[in-house]
Amino acid sequence: MSATSTALEFALRPSTTPVAQVRREEILASPGFGNHFTDHMATATWTADAGWHDDAVVPYAPLTLDPAAAVLHYAQEIFEGLKAYRHGDGSVWAFRPEANAARLARSARRLALPELPEAAFLASVEQLVRADEAWVPTGGESSLYLRPFMIATEAFLGVRPAREVRYLVIASPAGSYFSGGLKPVSIWLSEDYTRAAPGGTGAAKCGGNYAASLLPQQEAVAQGCDQVCFLDAAEHRWVEELGGMNLYFVHDDGSIVTPALSGSILEGITRSSILQLAADAGRKVEERRIGIDEWREGVQSGRITEVFACGTAAVVTPVGRLVSREGELVHGGGEIGEVTQSIRTALLDLQYGRAEDTHGWMRRLV
Ligand SMILES: *Cc1c(COP(=O)(O)O)cnc(C)c1O
Repeated sequence: MSATSTALEFALRPSTTPVAQVRREEILASPGFGNHFTDHMATATWTADAGWHDDAVVPYAPLTLDPAAAVLHYAQEIFEGLKAYRHGDGSVWAFRPEANAARLARSARRLALPELPEAAFLASVEQLVRADEAWVPTGGESSLYLRPFMIATEAFLGVRPAREVRYLVIASPAGSYFSGGLKPVSIWLSEDYTRAAPGGTGAAKCGGNYAASLLPQQEAVAQGCDQVCFLDAAEHRWVEELGGMNLYFVHDDGSIVTPALSGSILEGITRSSILQLAADAGRKVEERRIGIDEWREGVQSGRITEVFACGTAAVVTPVGRLVSREGELVHGGGEIGEVTQSIRTALLDLQYGRAEDTHGWMRRLV
């Protein structure tokens, strides 16, 4: 799968009908999550013959797709999620965007899509954020959420990797993920459904994984829970992750443990950043298998003192309850635990430029 020799630059073709300033300010005052989109989007097209081309930042607009487009039939699609953060001096930064570029390339390989070069990924994000800088909110835990994605656009109903693909990045201003402050979430243990199987697509960030998680998520809501937790597909015993977040267990000696990457767990950038930040803070960190029995017994014996979930959108979120057919397990008395809070603060301080970036993780966009 060849790439073009010329670098993709995503030059701006500005919108002639941007959202009026008053309306934009109204939106930014209370953006919620994923409801509003900016004036522009980044786009590039790939064909088997010409590689990547037609790159630009263009006015945000609906797509025209042939009804036979492969993505609509065979779900040949991948995506990413990252944020642009406004710092105190007004500058705008991304957190480890190279890691998103690398993960998009890994997802592309698994879904038989073309890889987008890292430089092109970074240029698409940078150019879009520059064009829509006025949409980056200021204050609190607000950010501009960026959603790069790739879809198979070739009109062909035969089953094979598409020979025509589109890459896009859209942007959506985001307030604090949790509007009513940080409340522990409750989790339903999915025992009838799994998210991902060995050899499947669980380690790729693809829409199909999410489609498969919606019914169990609906079951979680019916059980009065916020999120669903999946076990491994082979033994129904090993804790994997939530529908869209990784999990951490805090132990009474202050160490933190997260399920080891199994091939069916999505490798979160928040997850890997926490492994590093916790080690920097002198904490013992471990990646290993954790059984559902160990979770239950650990909470009952007091060996597990806190449980939290992590991901770009919600950062670090305490888990307050685990609900399953066996009953209910309560963690930490409805409050965020001390270790969870300190890890959350360390990550946010880095992302918002309040702490020194010792790993070179921040990339200035504007
Ligand atoms: C995106 C995602 C995560 C979190 O990844 P981050 O890079 O930390 O945002 C975790 N699990 C699943 C299934 C995901 O899709």
